[in-house]
Amino acid sequence: MKTKTEGIVLSVSDYKENSEKISVLTKDKAYLSFVIRGSAKMTARNKIFPRTVYEFIYDEKDGRDMYALQGRNLVRSYLSHDLKKDAFADVLIEAVRRITCDETDALYEDLIFVLDNLQTSPYLYGSYLLSRLLYYSGFRPYVDGCVVCNSNLISALSIERGGLVCALHKRATDIDDLDRVRHFRHLQLLQKENLPLYKEEITLEDFKILVDFIERHLDLRLRSFSFFLTL
Ligand SMILES: [Zn+2]
Repeated sequence: MKTKTEGIVLSVSDYKENSEKISVLTKDKAYLSFVIRGSAKMTARNKIFPRTVYEFIYDEKDGRDMYALQGRNLVRSYLSHDLKKDAFADVLIEAVRRITCDETDALYEDLIFVLDNLQTSPYLYGSYLLSRLLYYSGFRPYVDGCVVCNSNLISALSIERGGLVCALHKRATDIDDLDRVRHFRHLQLLQKENLPLYKEEITLEDFKILVDFIERHLDLRLRSFSFFLTL
């Protein structure tokens, strides 16, 4: 039986005999992989692009972790053809691809919301998405008090210890710029509808702190972020 599902392409890679394999985060079927026959040929007309939303058509009874793609309809594309903007969106896509989450329906909704708004304030919406990823992956930073003693007299953010710290538990390497600490805390607690209030406040520095947090606690390196910083 033919099944249709909407999803966003997280990666496209070569597969055997002129085929390509794509990884997709779907709206309601978590993560799926599809093989597209013949799409790696230079003349292929069925090219699929990363960072693009399609409705995918496949036969669910194939029943493995990978399906042969039978058809697709373009829903919307997030390719801006501006190198720097695209490179920033790729950082978010790489994070979504590499951080495993159980709540994929909510993550999908957040990712589409962020990509729809990304150009208005990239670091704000990007930071929001990384914060949601931390939440869904179970690596939520502790921001309700000092992560060691629970005191609410906060004086720094300790990436190493996974949350805020008081003056007593602060170490030399912790971040003690109080604007940064406040932004980090707010990003973990923010509701979507309040994001515009932070439009002017969240900068690349705030985004970098979240990348550091993810890289340390989830033990991975976001290569696309290193590339973005070279542009
Ligand atoms: Zn403390």
